[in-house]
Amino acid sequence: MIFQTATHGLKYDLLLRTFSLQPKKLQPIMDDTSWSTEFAWQELPSPCFVVDAARLAANARLLAEIRARSGCRILLALKGFSMFSSFDVLRPHLDGVCASSPHEARLGREEFNKEVQAFAAAYSEADIRELSGLCDTIIFNSFNQMERFRPYLDAVPRPIRRGLRVNPECSTAATALYDPCASGSRLGITRAEFHPDRLAGISGLHFHCLCEQDADALEVTLAAFEKKFGEFLDSLSWVNFGGGHHITRPGYDVERLVRLVTEFRDRHPGLTVYLEPGEAVALNTGVLMATVLDIVHNGLDIAILDTSAETHMPDVLAMPYRPRIVGAGEPGEYPHLYRLGGVSCLAGDVIGDYAFPRPLAPGDRLLFLDMAHYSMVKTTTFNGVQLPAIVLGDSRNGGLRVVRRFGYADFKSRL
Ligand SMILES: *Cc1c(COP(=O)(O)O)cnc(C)c1O
Repeated sequence: MIFQTATHGLKYDLLLRTFSLQPKKLQPIMDDTSWSTEFAWQELPSPCFVVDAARLAANARLLAEIRARSGCRILLALKGFSMFSSFDVLRPHLDGVCASSPHEARLGREEFNKEVQAFAAAYSEADIRELSGLCDTIIFNSFNQMERFRPYLDAVPRPIRRGLRVNPECSTAATALYDPCASGSRLGITRAEFHPDRLAGISGLHFHCLCEQDADALEVTLAAFEKKFGEFLDSLSWVNFGGGHHITRPGYDVERLVRLVTEFRDRHPGLTVYLEPGEAVALNTGVLMATVLDIVHNGLDIAILDTSAETHMPDVLAMPYRPRIVGAGEPGEYPHLYRLGGVSCLAGDVIGDYAFPRPLAPGDRLLFLDMAHYSMVKTTTFNGVQLPAIVLGDSRNGGLRVVRRFGYADFKSRL
């Protein structure tokens, strides 16, 4: 979507779709392009993240259905999505959270307050002290760490389950950056390093090998996991299948996931199965709205935005990927081509080349799709760039609540 703001004294752009000042839809339209008419965008500060409670609830309901049908428990991986103002939407449908650090564990305890699990590649003593007051389960990445902190955890009055992350050494992910089973990986204990005689106090195993993958990859991974570690399962009480299950992506094989979990539970009666998706919880539930600040020319038209790939959507550069924009297309698809550039100093702070049906002008607003997960949690104030405001919306009634605006104090307090 592009439209011009009221400050320009222009009518909202009708070029792409009719813009309604009173979004009165009673039935949510859950497709991507309907974003542009669901909310009164001109009322929002730019840049801002908007997460739609209706879309989030739809994802959560699908996850709840999988829980109910397969008997697994599902945790939200906070590292992917931590917008706690939306947790009331998720809490009824999920079992809790998994945390990567004491900070995330504390957020999970304070704001989600159901089951809290933690995993990190290694813990400090201070981490363990803090986690022991917050977590139900702490998962270790090595026997050494688990044994080092055993006396401390044994002395904690509340029961804290302990688990080990294992590495099934089964690569199904496309890129090494996101493949915990890549050769030389530090994540998870390989079978060669696994000591069955040192399992005292361990009640479960954890593996996390997937990234944006379908249930066929889980099937392959699960077979590798059971081949290597299956003999140890029957003395345990839980197994965590990690995250990376792209469950809420249209076309994901939900039936296969339900079958895999159900059959696993039949093979290992008494074992509780956990899934801990991050991305799937918030997939396609939020957008980043940004404004065109200027147009420059160097061989092609370049629109400079009040956002930045480097600071607001770093996975665009790291993954890398091309975010979709409402109303824009591939080069050639529409007559007006622009390179969209960020406001930071980084030469490579480029979001991509996009075609638009009409020329862009300063003040135009753009909606970058699918920005709820791994964007809000990864923003930085590099260059002192303004952090996007955080808005909780509801497309069922057009409701918008600006839950957080950022300013100089947020920049300064990190330095
Ligand atoms: C990243 C991660 C998750 C969540 O992964 P998604 O791809 O967001 O589903 C879950 N568990 C662990 C251990 C992780 O590192």
